[in-house]
Amino acid sequence: MKTCLVVDDSKVIRKVARHILETLSFEVAEAEDGQQALTHCEATPPDVVLLDWNMPVMTGMEFLQALGQSNVIVRRPKVVFCTTENGIAHIKAAIEAGADEYVMKPFDRDTLASKLQIVGLA
Ligand SMILES: [Mg+2]
Repeated sequence: MKTCLVVDDSKVIRKVARHILETLSFEVAEAEDGQQALTHCEATPPDVVLLDWNMPVMTGMEFLQALGQSNVIVRRPKVVFCTTENGIAHIKAAIEAGADEYVMKPFDRDTLASKLQIVGLA
């Protein structure tokens, strides 16, 4: 089964994303911030990370940088970065920091499925 780590400080968004991903046959894990996500990726790297930008403790951008620098992670997950209309300026920075794709919030099942297909996971 393909695995996805949903990283978002919003419980509601994690719940919605989990539901969509489970209908796409993903096994889903959740993290509330970048630090939790990094710890998870070091222990059990998922196939893909769905990554929020604004989070306490460690932001999405800080997570991307830490992921890039980590020598503990043996298999780097694909990263689909989530942003909003207001955060569109962040997309270039996220891609430069190692994100593979991005998705605009709020996303629906078809949009997320197509993004996962682009990174080779659908
Ligand atoms: Mg957030």
